[in-house]
Amino acid sequence: MNLSTALEQAAAKQGGKAAYHFLDQTATYEELNMAVQRFASGLKTLGIEQGDHVALIAGNSPHFIVALYGALRAGVTVIPINPLYSPEEISYIVQNGDAKAVILLDILVPLVNKLDASLPLVEHYIVCETNDERVKRGEPKQFSIYEKMKTFSEVINIGLLPFYPPVVDENETAVILYTSGTTGKPKGAMLSHKNLYSNARDIASYLQFSGKDRIITVLPMFHVFCLTVCLNAPLISGATMIIFPKFSPKEVFAQAKHYEATVFAGVPTMYNFLYQASEGHLEDFSSIRLCISGGSSMPVALLENFEKKFNVRVSEGYGLSEASPVTAFNPLDRPRKAGSIGCSISNVENKVVNELGEEVPTGEVGELIVWGPNVMKGYYKQPEETDAAIKDGWLYTGDLARQDEEGYFYIVDRKKDLIIVGGYNVYPREVEEVLYSHQDIVEGAVLGVPDPNYGEAVLAFVVSKNEQLTKGELMEYCRSRLADYKLPKEIEFLTELPKNTTGKILRRALKKQVLKN
Ligand code: AMP
Repeated sequence: MNLSTALEQAAAKQGGKAAYHFLDQTATYEELNMAVQRFASGLKTLGIEQGDHVALIAGNSPHFIVALYGALRAGVTVIPINPLYSPEEISYIVQNGDAKAVILLDILVPLVNKLDASLPLVEHYIVCETNDERVKRGEPKQFSIYEKMKTFSEVINIGLLPFYPPVVDENETAVILYTSGTTGKPKGAMLSHKNLYSNARDIASYLQFSGKDRIITVLPMFHVFCLTVCLNAPLISGATMIIFPKFSPKEVFAQAKHYEATVFAGVPTMYNFLYQASEGHLEDFSSIRLCISGGSSMPVALLENFEKKFNVRVSEGYGLSEASPVTAFNPLDRPRKAGSIGCSISNVENKVVNELGEEVPTGEVGELIVWGPNVMKGYYKQPEETDAAIKDGWLYTGDLARQDEEGYFYIVDRKKDLIIVGGYNVYPREVEEVLYSHQDIVEGAVLGVPDPNYGEAVLAFVVSKNEQLTKGELMEYCRSRLADYKLPKEIEFLTELPKNTTGKILRRALKKQVLKN
């Protein structure tokens, strides 16, 4: 069983059911399966064979889904890339990932045209038509890559049917996800068909996804959180995806109401925006049975306020690209604990260890390590990095965590984000939790900077919705809730915090900015 056969089964069992809604389009499982089959066949006709790699640089759209499952059906490895990456990043990943074809948004054609000279392995560019005016104005023939270009529909049309998909071993690499590690260039986490299928199956059963669910797919599809939770898991469950090209609270409310969505999955920043824009929309979420949060820590105050306001349960989970990604989630059949990432999902083990790799007693902080069928094969062409990340089958996450007596895990912080003030450990997250609990604070981030007296000092950045709030008042608020050594030495008010496209606050970008000034 793999994702491709899961789609075939869904089409056979409930072919007439909506697989997705996207803007004004709807596709049934049968239609999706047929498009996937034709795309797989089209790739083969182009000479893209089992074992080859393709890069996929597309936004949230049916193109993404058809290309992804079409390539997987043909036994081709997919490298999803964020369309907002810089030309250097795109070029590096396409080269390093040995892509033979690039499937790309039409607005990216001029950029890729410039990169082509540095991409000798690329034989085909498959262009997703989006009717974007900026592209229509440009004449494709002006591009030097014109000869290598095919439109998405051309690939579908050259796909001959019947097409007999190759037999794909479960350990073959299905996708390579480039993650920006701590240092140096991004590394490509190789996820096998088994990795992806098992994680989608396990999270779907843990969160009780079923054919009755309508799942809001608004997280970016190139990110593993969306890939597994909002694409693969719904597909395995025969659920319907409500796809959004981009995040807008107004649209999420409108579509959730229109399609009577049952599951919302987002990162904390999205919850923050929805919460801030909730006026007049409280009823729009009335069909939602479960809100899922992941990707970064959900401030406890935000989680509780959101639940109260929308009368819905918010379950936080945890994962990372290298684990396909989910390892822990708040269970549905037991209380959810605010501030916790929940318990190990079925078939996956989480453990908190010390520097020697030994399990620490309950309640103590250590590094979170993970074992299961979802743990990646390794980093593409980087055996040393792989050996550093996976030891005896256990994946070292680089996240600091503790476990309580009931088996719930809590992420304390990233190992490298830990701030040490005069020998005392300060976890940015605990200071951020206090900032978020202040009624005027919309966003907050805390980081450590060099300090001549204490080695490091705590610096806080906040976005306030009350212009009258002063630094002194906020400091006073923190003073009554934090030990002295954890208090920010400085608080800076900003209009917004830098975030990546998945909505994660970029502490490191802030730090760079601070150190530059
Ligand atoms: P990525 O590989 O881009 O999915 O990033 C994985 C990282 O996101 C993890 O190693 C964690 O640092 C962070 N992360 C994911 N989920 C959570 C969560 N619920 N709480 C805190 N950090 C999280």
